[in-house]
This record gives sequence, C-alpha cells and structure tokens, in this order.
Amino acid sequence: MARLRISGIVNDSIVDGPGLRYSIFTQGCPHHCPGCHNPQTHSYKGGRKISLRKIKKAIKENPLLSGVTFSGGEPFIQAKKLLPIAKFVKEQGLELASYTGFLFEELYSGKVPYAKELLQYIDILIDGKFVISQKSMDLKFKGSKNQRTIDVKESLKEGKAILSTNEKWN
Ligand code: SF4
Repeated sequence: MARLRISGIVNDSIVDGPGLRYSIFTQGCPHHCPGCHNPQTHSYKGGRKISLRKIKKAIKENPLLSGVTFSGGEPFIQAKKLLPIAKFVKEQGLELASYTGFLFEELYSGKVPYAKELLQYIDILIDGKFVISQKSMDLKFKGSKNQRTIDVKESLKEGKAILSTNEKWN
C-alpha cells in the first residue's frame, strides 16, 4: 500500500484556506526559502510515513470539512502519491487547494513528474517561493506578495496562469 511522507496533518485547520480544512503537510522541500516557517519539513528523510488509506478514511469521516489543502514541504515532490488522494477529495465533493514553491508555469511545463496530472484535480494553487522581503501580514492564506492565488481550472483551460477571483480566497 502506498505511503506518503508527511511532517504532519491538521484535521481541522482554519488557516490553510476558507472553512474547515484537512491540511496535509508533506515532508521534503527543494526550495529552501530564507525565513521559511517550516524548516523541519525540508529533509527528505524526516517526518513519518502514512498510508493513503488512513488519509482517505479521516477525510471521509469528517462531515464538517469544506476542503483539503496540500502544504509542506513541497507537495509536488510527491505528486504521484498525492494523485489518488486528490482524486478521492474531488469524489467527495470537497475543494482541493495546494501550496507550492514552484511556479504554475513550471508545473504545467511537465518538468516536475506527475505535477501536470495532479493539477487536473486542484481547484486553487498558491504558487511561488516565500520571499521574506515581500512578506506581508495582510495577505489572505499566503505569506509574501510574490505568491499568486491561482484558479487552476481556468488556467488549464487557457494554458496560462489565471488568478482566482474567488473572494473567499482573496
Ligand atoms: S517552499 Fe515552503 S516549505 Fe519549502 S522552503 Fe519555501 S516556504 Fe519553506
């Protein structure tokens, strides 16, 4: 059974997107942004492994969730393992959001294995590295002004990054 390497899970987060979220913090990150709030998530050997079955069960058993958020670490490093979870989240009728230190263009280009496939299931993507000189406390659900809140469905349709106009996210 496939297992995902995570640094942690928050069952009822209210800071990783609108409403109550099931937030999965994946382990391992190649970006090393200065000032990162989660440096313990950088090592590819740290954290712990969890079965995909356990994650699906926890999501299914919480009727109060409005969505699921992939955070990290860098979720797209484990895109292949996140695919069945992403598919399951959408089957449950929940919104799926993901953070990434990559840019949408990099994920869309195919250079990150399975990233383009994973994007098909994601509703909202918050992309870009955390840039400490652009840090702002006024931004909703993101850390620095360079990061974009992207409407993935529209972006895939247009073939370029389209910013989300969803006021719950902005
Ligand atoms: S992408 Fe996120 S987890 Fe990775 S170094 Fe940057 S802020 Fe930290």
